[in-house]
Amino acid sequence: MSASTPMIQQYKRAKYEHPDKILMFRLGDFYEMFYEDAEVASRELDITLTARPAGKDGKIPMAGVPYHAVDSYLERLVSRGYKVAICDQVEDPGQGKALVRREITRIVTPGTCVDLRTPQNNYLASLSLGGGGIGLAVADASTGEFRATEFRGDDAAGRAQEELLRTAPSECLVGPGVREEASWNRFFGQRLRCVLTQGDELAYDHETAYRVLTGHFGILSLRGFGLEDEHAAIAAAGALLGYLQETHRTALAHMTAISHYSSSNYMALDSQTRRNLELTQTLAGQKSKGSLLWVLDAAVTSLGQRLLRNWITHPLVCVKAIEERLDSVEFLVKAGLQRASLRGSLKGIRDLERLMARIAYGSAGPRDLVALRASLEAASALPRHLEGARGSLAHLPREMPDLGDLTRLLEEAVEDDPPLLAREGGFVKTGYRQEIDQLRELARGGRSWISQFESSERQRTGIKSLKVGYNRVFGYYVEVTRANLSQVPSDYQRRQTLANAERFVTEELKAKEEAILGSEERMQALEYEVFMELRDAVLARTAQIQRAARVVAQADVLAALAEVAAREGYVRPLVDQSTVVEITDGRHPVLEKVLDAGAFVPNDSHLDTQENRFLVITGPNMAGKSTYLRQVALICLMAQMGGFVPASRARIGVIDKLFTRVGAWDDLVMGQSTFMVEMTEVAHILHNATERSLIILDEIGRGTSTYDGLSIAWAVSEYILDRERIGAKTLFATHYREMVQMEEGLDGARNFSVAIKRRGDDMVFLRRLVRGGSDGSYGIDVARLAGLPRDVTERARQILRGLEEASGRVSATLDPPAYTQISFLEPGEHPVLEELRNMKVLEMTPIEALQELYRLQGKARKGS
Ligand code: ADP
Ligand code: MG
Repeated sequence: MSASTPMIQQYKRAKYEHPDKILMFRLGDFYEMFYEDAEVASRELDITLTARPAGKDGKIPMAGVPYHAVDSYLERLVSRGYKVAICDQVEDPGQGKALVRREITRIVTPGTCVDLRTPQNNYLASLSLGGGGIGLAVADASTGEFRATEFRGDDAAGRAQEELLRTAPSECLVGPGVREEASWNRFFGQRLRCVLTQGDELAYDHETAYRVLTGHFGILSLRGFGLEDEHAAIAAAGALLGYLQETHRTALAHMTAISHYSSSNYMALDSQTRRNLELTQTLAGQKSKGSLLWVLDAAVTSLGQRLLRNWITHPLVCVKAIEERLDSVEFLVKAGLQRASLRGSLKGIRDLERLMARIAYGSAGPRDLVALRASLEAASALPRHLEGARGSLAHLPREMPDLGDLTRLLEEAVEDDPPLLAREGGFVKTGYRQEIDQLRELARGGRSWISQFESSERQRTGIKSLKVGYNRVFGYYVEVTRANLSQVPSDYQRRQTLANAERFVTEELKAKEEAILGSEERMQALEYEVFMELRDAVLARTAQIQRAARVVAQADVLAALAEVAAREGYVRPLVDQSTVVEITDGRHPVLEKVLDAGAFVPNDSHLDTQENRFLVITGPNMAGKSTYLRQVALICLMAQMGGFVPASRARIGVIDKLFTRVGAWDDLVMGQSTFMVEMTEVAHILHNATERSLIILDEIGRGTSTYDGLSIAWAVSEYILDRERIGAKTLFATHYREMVQMEEGLDGARNFSVAIKRRGDDMVFLRRLVRGGSDGSYGIDVARLAGLPRDVTERARQILRGLEEASGRVSATLDPPAYTQISFLEPGEHPVLEELRNMKVLEMTPIEALQELYRLQGKARKGS
């Protein structure tokens, strides 16, 4: 080590402090990475791996990125789950010193990253165990959002895990003991994919956490935030804030509050359900196009886009709150012109939350101040566009803070089209600060003096091509071409020789130069001072600006829901405390958009907690079962997020939890085809569903052999149907025709099927849900539609007939409806038993008895 170069020693010391991060080490105009970091960076960033001589270490691997482009490289590393520490030069290089002092100035991790290209939230979560509960805190450092909650009692861990999945953080900080707990270990290993960071034990200590929080907010107690007694939540939140402070090394002025929230305000949507319903992205391809978000995304601001995503994944359960939103959407649907003008005025509003974060981090420039001013002006006009509004929209004008004085200040101080960087000046408006105006005058005077000087020198020397120029190293100079050198006067002092010219200075020019440069330097310093003053003035209003941002976001989302409702012909649902789901002419919001106009066939639904609790939906593949199931779930969800729904009429009794499970077979796309996963998920439903829940089961039990699968499907259904246990409203799509027997024996079960019409040998999908079970499995018909050769399908029919006869079945396709094959309600017995019972053993000779025994044995063997 002693023989390493001093620079490498300095590097190693920094790296020692941050072994788990990629260290970017500033060398001149580059950030360099060494050793293993260099190899990782070269692979991940596609940059050249070189080597650098390093004393006794010989040549070491090195890779670098230009300092001015570092942000895009950082984003790439962080989005792939790496953490990066930035080591900067903290004193001026080149003052004869052998080694410049360097320090870690910033740490960037997936959950703390704020340079993001999309408006989507980037969440950092923090988890603490102990204190009698499970604490969960969540923050988005790029917007200032910060919230915490605590889970206690029954299945606290399960609920905390669902909440984490719903939040989908990119990084999770974990307190002591979390990783040691088997269930959490499994959760992080299998269900939540994000970067895990082990938090400091001390950071999760109640007193430390409490101090960090109260210190940051400048308050004495957390009572005002409703957190005072939630020790686990405090630990999680304090540790999270501490981690942000450590990584960002700034005051985080945009984190102005912490909200205490409860996940019981929202419809429970577990991760599988969100995924299966394709709420924000599609199952295959994980694209936004084809998701519910894609249909509803008519928000015009980034603020609105973020909030809309949040509303979709957080449907409400409080009827009053839902109606407030519905009132607003209805108002805007009817007031088309007002909606258009409202949306028009929203368009000018930039991402106020991100702007405030940039200003707080010190990475904002004059253009951000202009954007802020313009956005605040547009926001202040919103109340005018909300006149007469109803529901939650009507409260917004009152919530909009008055920021007129700040807007005016920015208007007076900053040019409309300023340069990018505050340090270079040139953005303060004339008239804002006298001293700056005077210095500008001086500088301008200086420049005109220079041009006068140039023409008088041309006259004095007689050199027509004489030029006065400026460069950074030599300052102002007089340039004379080689051909004219003989005419140079004696008071010219030579400074620089070029290929075909020489550069000179004069005493007069040097004196003026000092005055000009002095005033320009002073001017830049003054402008920067003004910038910092403005920045502070803006930061002092952070909380208000964030409130304005929330108002904008809400108006935008409500207007977007109204816009889509009007465009797609949605209606206002009736949402109430009843337990029914009644939908007339329901449509699937995504599929109807993808299909040609008019091609989608609407269907009704009627579910309650009485006779129509459990709908068994049969029908061949491709009939439209899965579509129907999802459409019902989506309509309920859209209603509870406070939006209109794709139907001609809908009444939705509030649903507390929505579950959706898709049989492993259908879920192959995700590579999770194991039956085990499917069953784990079903278990989750059976443990959590209530009478108020809606359960969507699509082909469950498919991932195993027919009889296993059928038996499980049956037993699961019985359990759900049992009111003592669950009694939830359920839609069950299955290709097991045997399930239609449920209706006969189980109270609350109803058979439906998706209608098929036979036309000769052909089959036509009607996409219509009809009462009664499906009359056949049609698997072979579908195979034929898919283009299997006729020889194959004909042969398949033969085999099917054979199979059905062999197992004592009547061919259902030939003689519908016949579901007597296997009866679960009255288990059939083997025919051999019947014969045994009727056998007159006493009237037989021993040889006859032996012969009969032989025959029965043969039959029994054949049957099994
Ligand atoms: P299943 O689950 O019964 O196999 P799907 O629900 O996957 O069937 O539907 C198969 C295809 O049928 C869909 O991709 C869609 O194109 C079409 N489809 C389904 N329902 C409808 C409908 N109500 N109107 C029009 N087309 C539909
Ligand atoms: Mg299906």
